[in-house]
Amino acid sequence: MSKEDIIESGLREKLAGRRRQEWRKALRQEVSGRIRLQIPRHKMPEQPPARRIANFLEVNLGYSLDIAREEARRCLDCGEPGCVSGCPVAIDIPTFIKYVEAGEIDLALSTIRETNCLPAICGRVCPQEVQCEKNCNLVKAGKEPVAIGHLERFAADYVRQQEEPVTVSTCGQARSEKIAVIGSGPAGLTVAADLAHLGHQVTVFEGLHLPGGVLTYGIPEFRLPRFILNQEIKLISDLGVEIKTNFLVGRTATLSDLSQAGYRAFFVGTGAGLPSFMAIPGENLAGVCSANEYLTRVNLMKAARFPEYDTPVPVVKKAAVIGGGNVAMDAVRTALRLGATKASIYYRRSRIEMPARVEEVKHAEEEGIEFNFLTVPVRYLGNDKGRLTGMVLQRLTLGEPDASGRRRPVPIPGSEFEVEAELAVVAIGQSPNPLLIRQVEGLQLGRWGNVEVDPSTMATSLEGIYAGGDAVRGGATVILAMGDGRKAARAIDQWLRRC
Ligand SMILES: Cc1cc2nc3c(=O)[nH]c(=O)nc-3n(C[C@H](O)[C@H](O)[C@H](O)COP(=O)(O)OP(=O)(O)OC[C@H]3O[C@@H](n4cnc5c(N)ncnc54)[C@H](O)[C@@H]3O)c2cc1C
Repeated sequence: MSKEDIIESGLREKLAGRRRQEWRKALRQEVSGRIRLQIPRHKMPEQPPARRIANFLEVNLGYSLDIAREEARRCLDCGEPGCVSGCPVAIDIPTFIKYVEAGEIDLALSTIRETNCLPAICGRVCPQEVQCEKNCNLVKAGKEPVAIGHLERFAADYVRQQEEPVTVSTCGQARSEKIAVIGSGPAGLTVAADLAHLGHQVTVFEGLHLPGGVLTYGIPEFRLPRFILNQEIKLISDLGVEIKTNFLVGRTATLSDLSQAGYRAFFVGTGAGLPSFMAIPGENLAGVCSANEYLTRVNLMKAARFPEYDTPVPVVKKAAVIGGGNVAMDAVRTALRLGATKASIYYRRSRIEMPARVEEVKHAEEEGIEFNFLTVPVRYLGNDKGRLTGMVLQRLTLGEPDASGRRRPVPIPGSEFEVEAELAVVAIGQSPNPLLIRQVEGLQLGRWGNVEVDPSTMATSLEGIYAGGDAVRGGATVILAMGDGRKAARAIDQWLRRC
């Protein structure tokens, strides 16, 4: 086949294996590696900080087609693409990027969709800097990595905005077994989509009134607009997946009720929605709450629009958020958008140990969030009405590494100081939702109340019951939850075929 034929067929057909490699190779020769190396990474267009702190609209505005194609030209299409091994769902990144470069965006998106059913979401919230982009070979050449996340987001958004309706790929031969997925976060949605592709009848049971898990109730709209989420969930429903909301498994019905109703296999994707607190004096004061509660009020119950919607939320001038992860960044930036004039982070380690995505920290800094490192509250202060007025904090220094590999914060005696605060949002971690998993007899749980699984299949200690995402890992990431979902779907399908 001539080079032109290979390129042409690559643009027209969905290629597999060797032909896909040939197609990429043929296209690669069009632009030399030297030229690719000279193209600088393209910045994501954003709402300016002064404007965005007064609204809940998305901060990132997305690439145009021209910018996306130019960014895609930076990909070296290396022989051994590190980016793919850095992606927990193993997207064929070089191929999708080559399609973007060629301007064939629908093919780029179908390449991503082969292994990822939530591309517009992952393009926005994945910590690419520690996954695919970290392994980009451009980094070894002393350059910034290809903006893989921005390109993934672009492909999904571009196709969605076209006049042609988005189609979903066809499903395998219909099968008769019913499968129950409990929880509609990224783990549950992924297992449901993959099983539906394999022809199974899948019902997702969700305790809340809207599907999406943390994507709906946790991550604010300025990072992940709801219409994007709704559209990706709709594509999963279009595969034939039934989503039943307001259905709390363990209350509305038990697992054995579902078993009697004919469900043969179960996936527990109930997440880690149980917030941790520090157990320090004053925690019961009005004005101290978990990030989970705070963000759920605003994101899910529209508290930002009180009294139009009847869920209130504290609107304060001085807001303090305790923690250094994505949850803390989301809470502090939400407080700012709700009118705080001083919104501060208090984190017990130093900046480099912060687990939040680099982009969220950068955005928070640009928006004027105050960062206080190596500090921890030891006591909340209140007035005679029982309302929070401030906190006593202690300074810390970093000692030897702990079990997480990060240096342990050690208190500095006599370093206490006070700050004023009307709201303290605690974002120091979550553990698995206990309601369902603690009532299933024989289900083996780990030290932190997490479901124990065989990591190669996500099978639990009970036959026919699989689990994944935060219910297994504690608070982790969207893409790890999705990776678990993919693994579990394959294993459930194989198990059902064996039975
Ligand atoms: C505020 C916040 C910001 C975050 N930001 C990022 C980010 O930027 N990037 C990133 O990768 N990760 C981020 N994360 C982490 C990520 O969202 C989670 O790791 C991921 O959502 C876990 O997916 P999951 O499907 O396991 O659980 P979840 O998303 O928690 O979904 C579990 C679902 O199960 C439902 N459920 C629980 N019990 C039952 C029951 N008994 N019956 C029926 N339904 C039930 C819950 O209501 C929930 O909808 C963030 C987390 C939070 C809280």
